[in-house]
This record gives sequence, C-alpha cells and structure tokens, in this order.
Amino acid sequence: MQNRVTRLFDIQFPIIQAGMIWASGWRLASAVSNAGGLGLIGSGSMYPDVLKEHIQKCKLATDKPFGVNVPLLYPDIDQHIQIIIDEKVPVVFTSAGNPKTWTSTLKQHGIKVVHVVSSSKFAVKSEEAGCDAVVAEGFEAGGHNGREETTTLVLIPSVSAALKIPVIAAGGIATGRQMLAAMVLGAEGVQVGSRFVASTEASSHQQFKDMVIRSVEGDTQLSLKQLTPVRLLKNKFFEAVQQAEQQCASKEELMQLLGRGRAKKGMFEGDLEEGELEIGQVSALIRKVMPAAEIVHEIWKDFETALNSPLK
Ligand code: NDP
Repeated sequence: MQNRVTRLFDIQFPIIQAGMIWASGWRLASAVSNAGGLGLIGSGSMYPDVLKEHIQKCKLATDKPFGVNVPLLYPDIDQHIQIIIDEKVPVVFTSAGNPKTWTSTLKQHGIKVVHVVSSSKFAVKSEEAGCDAVVAEGFEAGGHNGREETTTLVLIPSVSAALKIPVIAAGGIATGRQMLAAMVLGAEGVQVGSRFVASTEASSHQQFKDMVIRSVEGDTQLSLKQLTPVRLLKNKFFEAVQQAEQQCASKEELMQLLGRGRAKKGMFEGDLEEGELEIGQVSALIRKVMPAAEIVHEIWKDFETALNSPLK
C-alpha cells in the first residue's frame, strides 16, 4: 500500500511506533523500521549524550528511515535539536508544546516534521507552522494527554476535515481492525504506543510489560489534570494522587507528591507500586509480549483481512 504517509517517510506500511519515554530506544525504533514501519526514538527520558548514542546505534542497526520524538517540554531541547540536525535524522515528531518553535529550523535542514495534537485547533496551528503531517491523539492514549478528553473516534474526522496535510491517528490503536477504523475516519496512518511497550525490544522493565499484558478494561485512568494530564495504570501512587485531589490538594502539593523521576521508577526500574506507569486504555486488549517485527506484520495482516471482510 502506498499513500501520502508511506511516501512522506519512505516506508512500506503506514504504521508508526510512538516515541515513548523509557520504552523506545534504538533497539525498538530500528526493529520497527526494519519491519517496514517507522520507528521513533523517545528522547524525553534521554540526556543529550544518551540521545546521540541511541541515534548512532539506530543508524548502524537499520538503513531504513527512522525518527526521534521530542517532547517540547524537555529542559535541554536546544541540545537535542542540534544533535538531531548534526546526526541527519530524517524525521522528527514533536509533542507537548508549540509547533511554531522548532518546525522551520528542522525543515531548513531537510527534516520531515510531524506534531502531535489532541484538538483540531492545534492541528490547524501545526499546519500553519509548516508541519508535514500531524498525529491526532485521542483520549484513550497513554502518557501525556489532552485536557479536553476528545476521543479518537471524534478527533480523527474533525482533524481530517480541518487539514490538507495527512493525519496520523493515535490513541486506542493496537490492532489492524482499529487501524482500519481510523483510516475509514480519515487518517492516512496510525501511531501505536502501548502495543510496542509490550515488545521484546522495548527498554521498559519486564515487570511493567507483564503488568501491561495483565491489565483489563478500566485499569487505566487520566490523572494529574491540574499539572500535565497523564493516563496511568492504577497503582499505589495513582491512588495517592486520587486521594490528594479529593482533599483539594494545591498544584504545589501535587508537584511535591509527584517528585522527580516517578516515570523512570515505574516504567524503567519496575517499581509497580510507587512508580508512574504510563499506558493507554488499549492495554486491556494486549495479551502478550512479542518481537516488534511480528507486531508490525500482525497489525498489517489483520488490517488487510478486515479490509477484505464483509461487514457483520
Ligand atoms: P521528571 O522531572 O520527573 O524526571 C526527569 C527524568 O528525565 C529523570 O528520570 C531523568 O533521568 C530524565 N532526564 C533525561 N534528560 C534529562 C535532562 N536533561 N534534565 C533532567 N532530567 C532528564 O520528569 P518525567 O520523568 O516525568 O519526564 C521526563 C521528560 O519526558 C519530560 O521532558 C517530559 O516532557 C517527557 N515526557 C514525555 C511523555 C510522552 O508521552 N512523550 C510522557 C511523559 C513525560 P535520571 O533519573 O537518570 O536523571
């Protein structure tokens, strides 16, 4: 299949692996790119020298295009951007910030730029800023999430109608059937996060991967809306935040409760009680940890089967 998304990134399947903190280093990104999708290195949890090493290892592990996800909240972002330019990374996905800040700089260096949004308003801003595509990420998604709680089913047709550039759907997508649904709604590709957390190559802690595949419907919830909203698996830390919010904790008190490095503690070090465990609602449908290439091929096969099946 060829469409605007496969042509934009020069890839075989319009399947993009989300750049997720503590999960997506060079091993995962290169495995997805080698399998015909687009792999992304998640730079949000990497110091600049670590990011440089991951990019260099990714270039050795694949001759296919890959990208880097840059959360615009990142403290040393100018260093990350410089490394990306110096290392000639072909694609950057930016998120959690204003798309006007870095898009033109990156594009001047021939880099394809995609911005992640959770509303049509920011999708239009991304197009105006010169982005090549947007990821429209619905409320089902794990990690940082929009305040307006717009679901993927509503967001994708709205954003697709508002833009001329291609839309990549995210949030609640782990199977080919869900991918087909997103494409019917107007997306030209999908970004998949949670399914790739449950991959052999993800750098997430094994205990976190095991918890993801054990989780069932209702096990995740949006939390910390007063700070930066984030979808988490419910655990002791999540309950502590809930309790603090019920007692009308101030922003400062919540920041103190969150502390530093909670995400690393949970997703990388495997502290399932005290850590922050970021994952999407779709974890309820993920039942096993698989190699990333098998995930890409299974999603694609499932997509083609669903496309060629009559409606029930
Ligand atoms: P915290 O402030 O709680 O902790 C910072 C963490 O980031 C530490 O674990 C630290 O590693 C690591 N880190 C990497 N580079 C730097 C740096 N230059 N300065 C300070 N710390 C650094 O933040 P979070 O863990 O909640 O988030 C970290 C980043 O990830 C943020 O930029 C945030 O925007 C992004 N993020 C992105 C998400 C997404 O969905 N894309 C979701 C959540 C967060 P160490 O412990 O080894 O010092």
